[in-house]
Amino acid sequence: MIIILTNNNDNLRADGRVFNELRPLKIEAGVLEKADGSAYLEIGGNKILAAVYGPRELHVRRIMRPDMAVIRCRYNMAPFSVGERKRPGPDRRSVEISKITADALRPAIFLEKFPRSTIDVFIEILEAEGGTRCAGITAASVALADAGIPMKDLVASCAAGKANGNVILDLSEDEDKEGEADLPIAIMPRSGEISLLQMDGHMTPDEFDKAVDLAIEGCKQISEAQKNAIKDRYGEENG
Ligand code: UDP
Repeated sequence: MIIILTNNNDNLRADGRVFNELRPLKIEAGVLEKADGSAYLEIGGNKILAAVYGPRELHVRRIMRPDMAVIRCRYNMAPFSVGERKRPGPDRRSVEISKITADALRPAIFLEKFPRSTIDVFIEILEAEGGTRCAGITAASVALADAGIPMKDLVASCAAGKANGNVILDLSEDEDKEGEADLPIAIMPRSGEISLLQMDGHMTPDEFDKAVDLAIEGCKQISEAQKNAIKDRYGEENG
């Protein structure tokens, strides 16, 4: 019997991926000397650094919690991270992403172990190619683990969405800009808890369900890469 395997190129995306395929992913833990924890991440054309300081004593009374640590995040795009030079400094988008990043990471951390303290997370987008908020959360989570901060799980994040009428995983910049919808998600894979879910654009309820399932599968793959990054730095027994 002769079996002919055909590759139906019609189903491939502009960058050659199938609908449920992540872009090439690389994560390295402990890349900076001076921060307490750090990570470098590439996914597709995104290049991202995350650094963590803390837990350390917090002197700002207005935000200090007597019973637990607070987590503060700053997401920043470098001026050279996008085609059109980005004006340096915070803008509405970076303030929003900083907030949702802290919200996505907070449930994973045993904050009650560090009363009156702060954990500071810095995410620097060196190059952006779509999906930076998710990639930033993924990198920050590895940096938190690298800083030795006790966590229930590593938060993993990626988006699914819709472009050219198809529900797809991990949108590129072009798919994000030209597509119909973008659905970033972050999960704690051990419990399955979702700590971030945003949506931009339009999908039917069926497409939404499909996109959520795809994004969760993507997060599970990303979670393996996160664990490998920690294992590579600290060895199997501590990974
Ligand atoms: N982008 C850009 N200039 C900006 C902000 C974003 O070129 O000032 C690009 C960048 O590649 C980013 C993409 O647009 O990844 C999508 O941005 P979005 O706000 O959807 O956030 P992201 O998908 O990065 O989480």
